[in-house]
Amino acid sequence: MPETIQTHDKLPAALAAAFTNGYEFAQGAGYPLPEYPFVEPPELRTGEVKRHAVAIVGGGITGLTLACALAQYGIKAVLLDEDNTVGVKGASSRGICYAQKSLEIFKRLGIYERIAARGVQWSVGRTFAGADEVYAFDLRQQQTHSLSRQPPFINIQQFYVEGFLVEQLYSPAPEDRLVDIRWNHRVTSFEQNQDFATLRLETPAGPYTLEAEHVIDCSGSRSPFRAWCGATVTAQQGDDRWCIADVRFKNPPPVERHTWIEAPFNEGRAVWQHLMADGVWRIDYQMPPHAKAEEVSREDVVRARLKAQFKSQAGQLLDDGDYEIVWVGPYAYRSECLDSLRHGRVFFAGDAAHVMSPFGARGGNSGVQDADNLAWKLAAVLQGRAAPALLGSYHHERHEAATHNVLVTNRTARFLRPADGAERLFRTAALGLAREHVFARQLVNTGRMSTPNHYTRSGACGRSGGRATQNVGFTWPGGRPGELLELLAWTQGRLLLLAFGDVSPAALARLAALSVEAGIRCVQVVGPGEKAAALEHVIDDQGHLQATCHVFGHAWALLRPDGHVAATGESVDASLVHAVAAALGAGAPTGKETA
Ligand SMILES: Cc1cc2nc3c(=O)[nH]c(=O)nc-3n(C[C@H](O)[C@H](O)[C@H](O)COP(=O)(O)OP(=O)(O)OC[C@H]3O[C@@H](n4cnc5c(N)ncnc54)[C@H](O)[C@@H]3O)c2cc1C
Repeated sequence: MPETIQTHDKLPAALAAAFTNGYEFAQGAGYPLPEYPFVEPPELRTGEVKRHAVAIVGGGITGLTLACALAQYGIKAVLLDEDNTVGVKGASSRGICYAQKSLEIFKRLGIYERIAARGVQWSVGRTFAGADEVYAFDLRQQQTHSLSRQPPFINIQQFYVEGFLVEQLYSPAPEDRLVDIRWNHRVTSFEQNQDFATLRLETPAGPYTLEAEHVIDCSGSRSPFRAWCGATVTAQQGDDRWCIADVRFKNPPPVERHTWIEAPFNEGRAVWQHLMADGVWRIDYQMPPHAKAEEVSREDVVRARLKAQFKSQAGQLLDDGDYEIVWVGPYAYRSECLDSLRHGRVFFAGDAAHVMSPFGARGGNSGVQDADNLAWKLAAVLQGRAAPALLGSYHHERHEAATHNVLVTNRTARFLRPADGAERLFRTAALGLAREHVFARQLVNTGRMSTPNHYTRSGACGRSGGRATQNVGFTWPGGRPGELLELLAWTQGRLLLLAFGDVSPAALARLAALSVEAGIRCVQVVGPGEKAAALEHVIDDQGHLQATCHVFGHAWALLRPDGHVAATGESVDASLVHAVAAALGAGAPTGKETA
């Protein structure tokens, strides 16, 4: 039974000690990871204590996404990582599924094409109980994913995404780089006052100190900042245990996500089977509760499991020469969410802010969205285009997202590892019904895949706002096909006002004044064959822009640089002016309720 605890620091020893994810029991040749050089910082020579506008602690997927996004908005930052590579040392195979929203963010950051070229696109998932298919989905058929130019999911090993982000940060000439990445820099202590934070760093060349106006903690689930800031955490940990086998086959299985709830070839426990980049299959086996990491990850035990699975599926035993074990790693999971994602000058993002079970691929994907949410707000505030109060909306928006993701993944975890009694009875009944009746298939829960979050509690979004748009297509006036991300990139971190349908001369004049005063960008959106009054206009031939903004007919939609709708309305009047002010943190509180 999962246990709920509140803690000011790390998990109590009894919980934290169980089944470490330090991957010391990893097997296999592993993945060759790039190593980046340690460069002695000038402060060590000069003794100067430099103050930075932004210090990012942690160069995992969250910290690197944030760094790339800030650089794109023209913001300088220093990124500190205790390691000198991507991935986590020894734990090279972790995240694999990247959701459409993250892929759209990566497109904006310039690495999507590399991910698409190396990764594996998929949209079909099938779930089996024993030999019976009890649930299936095709994400392409679901409205939430159907309009975007990016696919619902791409599978690719997490370290590739991180490596592409690093290369993107290194792509300008050294003197033009906005982010100063400092490898082998471990933050060992921290304090803050009203004006700045002070970080103490350990490096191979000795310790030194730097200051920062904003610190973004992206240091992962063992974040030391939680204790340094006195952050409280709501957490749960159960006894569910898993073991990953990353395998390359001579005769590969189908490119679909297959999950088994009661796999006959795994003693009636769950199994996941997924293709990643380089022809490597990720197979996750659920282990008995309290299984010992060193036993379940032994090579002979892993081989026996693989043979049992493929004998059962393909009817023949695998020979050792039919497949290659690339990497094996046992893991346990816990779920945690900080009660506040901001403590003074420190913002918590990614696993430092929230940890969840991997079912539904919500961990890394939500770290990427945390980073994207914070980046445009920091840029707007630092460049004087928004009020500092806007930064308060980061907690309201991303805490709502994190608690939702934790709730959804916890439900899956309880379906996969039900407690004895009512939970197990429910699962048995759900599986029995799903075998017979289509309506019951929705009850089968092997993971609800990551979708963008809807912000309902943020004062920076109007009542009609908060939803994420998809990267839909339209046509530029000259006839060239365009996509929403191009419009967002054109705004360079400003708000984008889409005015649908006719715009009267008076409304046009008001929009022109608003663009100048509030620094927003306005574009008229007309239907095919309709005449545009504004110079800057696009043609919504298929109505996808309207659909993704959730507006109909004559209306406006105010979009933020992160692709979320801040507000929608009908007339170009005071309501639009208020929506712009709220979206920029001016005057209004940044949460609809107190934190
Ligand atoms: C088995 C498994 C499967 C998963 N599958 C998926 C999936 O398919 N999709 C998905 O989206 N997510 C998945 N996840 C979750 C995902 O891996 C994590 O959510 C993600 O790695 C979090 O990224 P992060 O950058 O926030 O933290 P981390 O990846 O933990 O990065 C933290 C960084 O901080 C650095 N650091 C730590 N302490 C310090 C310090 N004191 N000073 C300086 N640097 C420091 C570390 O070196 C590291 O580089 C999975 C997780 C597991 C375990």
